[in-house]
Amino acid sequence: MWDVVVDKDKCTGCEECVNACPASVLELVDGKSDPVEMDECLGCETCVEVCPEGCITVTEV
Ligand code: SF4
Ligand code: SF4
Repeated sequence: MWDVVVDKDKCTGCEECVNACPASVLELVDGKSDPVEMDECLGCETCVEVCPEGCITVTEV
């Protein structure tokens, strides 16, 4: 299991992570990225790599 956390104070809603996630974990909710399908996360950290604001953390739990 993976815990995906978005720092919504830093998120600009650019959608880079939404488009890059291979498991469709992330969606924009109220203009910010939200890990709505966290159970599907593969732990690949692609979202972490593409986020220009550095506001996503992925942790194994
Ligand atoms: S770690 Fe990979 S699967 Fe999980 S939310 Fe990020 S891009 Fe998607
Ligand atoms: S890539 Fe980063 S700044 Fe862009 S929507 Fe995702 S979390 Fe927000």
